[in-house]
Amino acid sequence: MPDKETILVVDDEPDILNLTKKFLELGDFNTITCSNGKEAMKIIKEKGDDIALILLDIMMPGMSGYQVLETIKTDDELKDIVVVLFTVKSFNEDIQKGKRLGADYYITKPFSGKELLKKIKEILNKD
Ligand SMILES: [Mg+2]
Repeated sequence: MPDKETILVVDDEPDILNLTKKFLELGDFNTITCSNGKEAMKIIKEKGDDIALILLDIMMPGMSGYQVLETIKTDDELKDIVVVLFTVKSFNEDIQKGKRLGADYYITKPFSGKELLKKIKEILNKD
């Protein structure tokens, strides 16, 4: 049996982190969570090879999701990691900016656990 895939969830809202973690674990994924961009970069540099996908919030104090995204996508060793931006549905500009910076996919908030798992499974099965 293959190992469970690991998803890094980065969001400054504890409720979203907890909820997402719960859903992902129900979907049989391993999760790593953190609440800011700086910590996310540290985890990515240490465990990048083990991370199948990053779910990344945009609006966070300190290093924003955009900055994390740009750092990943301009680094030759990290750029192949799949980055899924968590965006608020009404903010179309976020999607445009994320696209320019190399985001692979988007999940809009608010989301249901069922949708989240479906989308992540679709994304990971494409690789
Ligand atoms: Mg946020």
